Amino acid sequence: MLEIHVEAGENYTLCRPSGELDAYSVSAFREALAELAGAQRLLIDLSDVPFMDSAGLGALIGGIRRAREADGAVSVFCDRPTITRLLHTTGFDRIVPVAESLDEAEEALRHWLASGRTELPDGPPSARHAAEQATLALRHGAHGVTRALGAEGSGEVPVNALVTDADDAARAVCQGHETLKLKVARALLDDDVRRIRAVRAAVGPEVQLRLDANRGWTHDEAVRALTALAPLGLEVVEEPCDGLQAMRSVRRATGVRVGADESVRSEADLDEVLATGGIDVVVLKPMLIGGLARSVAMLRRAHEAGVDTVVTTSIDGGVARHGALAVAAAGPASLACGLDTGRWLVDDPHADAGPVIAGGIAREPT
Ligand SMILES: [Mg+2]
Repeated sequence: MLEIHVEAGENYTLCRPSGELDAYSVSAFREALAELAGAQRLLIDLSDVPFMDSAGLGALIGGIRRAREADGAVSVFCDRPTITRLLHTTGFDRIVPVAESLDEAEEALRHWLASGRTELPDGPPSARHAAEQATLALRHGAHGVTRALGAEGSGEVPVNALVTDADDAARAVCQGHETLKLKVARALLDDDVRRIRAVRAAVGPEVQLRLDANRGWTHDEAVRALTALAPLGLEVVEEPCDGLQAMRSVRRATGVRVGADESVRSEADLDEVLATGGIDVVVLKPMLIGGLARSVAMLRRAHEAGVDTVVTTSIDGGVARHGALAVAAAGPASLACGLDTGRWLVDDPHADAGPVIAGGIAREPT
């Protein structure tokens, strides 16, 4: 028996089906999603779904497509390993963000500790990443992780600053940053163009400007936006729109280098990016990929294929930021990395474990 709970919150609409989602129950789910197609931000919570078959998955994808056609944003929350695995193996998590739960990661780590720690835990990538970093730190000391991954030299990595406007940008350059990153596609195109033009005027021609659209444009919007922005001199634009072929087409039409970030969450994703061609940069987040050594190997594969690389965090605490620094230093990443993310946290109990950022460079914690 399937029950569907719908709740309209201030910032989002929640849809929580409870019960098995299969051929017998799927029509109720499909109807509920059809009614929610106009929701601006829809959160589908699958925590109370113990089983889902292909009919349920089809209804979920159909509902997401309709919501997106109406310009809505959809996220899926899921803390059942069986369902998370289904969403991963079917490639679903590449078309819609699937939030991992803390409980699921904790459970995977608890199970790993009890199992004798012979193999890294299966399941949430963040848990596998945490277990691997802990193992490396136990063997080599927290300060030996970077070298254990194969880094040579001092382990220093140039970092980009995430800025929003010209004042912000000028400040970051004064602090020593040579690469600035701006989020775009969240406002009208004209506003984005005005803002980036003001940033370029404030910082001069030498500073690298990196944009990240997080798939916020359609293919045609991306072409229009980047045709207008290309004369300002851009290092790369991450995920201008949805789909590798579409990104490649944007690159061809505008000459602006494109980067894959959300599109690379596994080794198989990287294979696809390299096979597609026309992608200039890959952005790797080790804790979403599920491991440090795996991320280093992916960095090196990308380099061999002539693709530039950036390592970033997913706004993590100090320990994982240190892990990301180790990966970036070991690769090494070829472009400035997104490691200066600790300042976005309200509270970080392990801030001291994170890289020290000064003069646009991330260094090993002291
Ligand atoms: Mg990005």
